[in-house]
Amino acid sequence: MNRSEFEAKLNKAYDGAVRPLNSSINQRATVCFKCEKCGLVFFGKPFHMVGKDHQRHVCGVPYGDKNGERLQHAGGRRKSKKKEPSITIDQFKKLVWEDYTPQQIAQKMQVNPKIVIYYFKHEGLI
Ligand SMILES: [Zn+2]
Repeated sequence: MNRSEFEAKLNKAYDGAVRPLNSSINQRATVCFKCEKCGLVFFGKPFHMVGKDHQRHVCGVPYGDKNGERLQHAGGRRKSKKKEPSITIDQFKKLVWEDYTPQQIAQKMQVNPKIVIYYFKHEGLI
C-alpha cells in the first residue's frame, strides 16, 4: 500500500475527514492523524485506520498511544481509568504562541509529553 492508495482508502473510510499529518507514510509506523469532523488529533497505524471497524477512528474517541491502542471504547469495553485526552491543533498552537515549553503544554493539556514533542517536531519548532 503506497501513500496514494492509503489516502484513497482513508478518504473512502472517513469521507475525507481524516488526514495524516505526517509527510511520509509507512503503514507499519504510527502516524499522527487529524479528523476534521471532531477536531481530534491522534496517533494511529495506517493499516488500523483503514482496517477493521474496531480499529478505526471513532469521532470523539482518541487513539491513546503510539501503538494505536484505543484508550476509551465507544461501547465502554476496556475502560481505562486514566483518561488521556488528546489536544486539537488549535489548542496546541495557542499554547505555542503563548511561549509554553512542550513540558508545560503537556502538563496543561494533561497529555503525554511525547505527543507534544511530536507536535513541536512536526511543526518544525524543535
Ligand atoms: Zn473524528
